[in-house]
Amino acid sequence: MDAAAVNEVLESNLQAVQTSIRAACDRAGRDPSAVKLVAVTKYAEPEWVAALSRVHRVFGESRPQQLAARVAEFDPQIEWHLIGQLQRNKVRLVLPLAHTIHSVESWRLLDRIDLIAGDLRLRPRVLIEVNVSGESAKSGFAPAELLSDIARLSQYENVNVTGLMTMAPAADHAEQSRPVFRQLAELRDQLRERTSCELDELSMGMSGDFEVAIEEGATIVRVGSRLFDGLNYRA
Ligand SMILES: *Cc1c(COP(=O)(O)O)cnc(C)c1O
Repeated sequence: MDAAAVNEVLESNLQAVQTSIRAACDRAGRDPSAVKLVAVTKYAEPEWVAALSRVHRVFGESRPQQLAARVAEFDPQIEWHLIGQLQRNKVRLVLPLAHTIHSVESWRLLDRIDLIAGDLRLRPRVLIEVNVSGESAKSGFAPAELLSDIARLSQYENVNVTGLMTMAPAADHAEQSRPVFRQLAELRDQLRERTSCELDELSMGMSGDFEVAIEEGATIVRVGSRLFDGLNYRA
């Protein structure tokens, strides 16, 4: 496939996703400008990222090292989100690069982010990852644990906790994710009564279920494979 054909596929995929986002917003009576699309590039070839970056500005990577490589390689105007696991020894690498860290899964990690942020004089935006479904293989706070310990948020001086993030279990149908997304939104409402943090952001929904997530209140959707449909991944 030549570069022009790749561009065409990417632009048409992006348009299709944006159209679906608007349709989901219509159904939910929401303003489409209140939903941010994070284009997840973890499996994308550099040429695809380059092409997409001409028409889209918000990208996500799941690995700190790859995030750093992408930031160095592409237009500095791009807004990069870290959506995958962050080890404590990678915090210093990631903080200056990431617009938002979606995957804060423990108080220990948040302690570390707060410490390094103070050191670097940064005020990173972070989302607290919640394991709504309770799958043992999944990282994130248990909802009950978060509810009981949420007062701890007030001890962090250098981080801006802007909301919650979750991943629904793998499913064949988007509707199966709906209860998970609804529970995250309900948890956010409960947490708001116990903290002064606004927790405005709900990062939920991926290629298979982002429309449902938007109907349930997502303000950030993380979409990867749908954007790259029709392109051949290098094996
Ligand atoms: C890979 C990934 C996505 C995007 O998944 P797709 O199904 O390809 O859209 C979203 N969120 C996280 C945390 C991911 O790791």
